[in-house]
Amino acid sequence: MAKVRKQKFGPGYEFYCPACGSLHATGDHTFNGDVDAPTFAPSIMAAPGQVPRGGVCHSYISSGRIIYAGDCTNGPNGNRPIPFDVELPDLDEVERTLSESGQYTKAAEVQSA
Ligand SMILES: [Zn+2]
Repeated sequence: MAKVRKQKFGPGYEFYCPACGSLHATGDHTFNGDVDAPTFAPSIMAAPGQVPRGGVCHSYISSGRIIYAGDCTNGPNGNRPIPFDVELPDLDEVERTLSESGQYTKAAEVQSA
């Protein structure tokens, strides 16, 4: 099951960040080509508009896991998320769950709004 997919608009790939509860995108990072167990390099600094609560979301994506860097401020009380090393969720599953609960608008819909 795919944990990342090519961006519709943009040069990189997008993934769902469980700490921010939103999609983030890579830039022109190197990618191992495995959407089920992705590894990107170097680390990913989410753009300000991609961090709903503000602050910094800085992560490493390695073998399908997201590892939050020590300088993240998107966790509880402006600290690094806990746990800081988690499995990236499957994108289709996230979108199904959140669209059923009405909490999520697909990135494509946001882009065209
Ligand atoms: Zn994030």
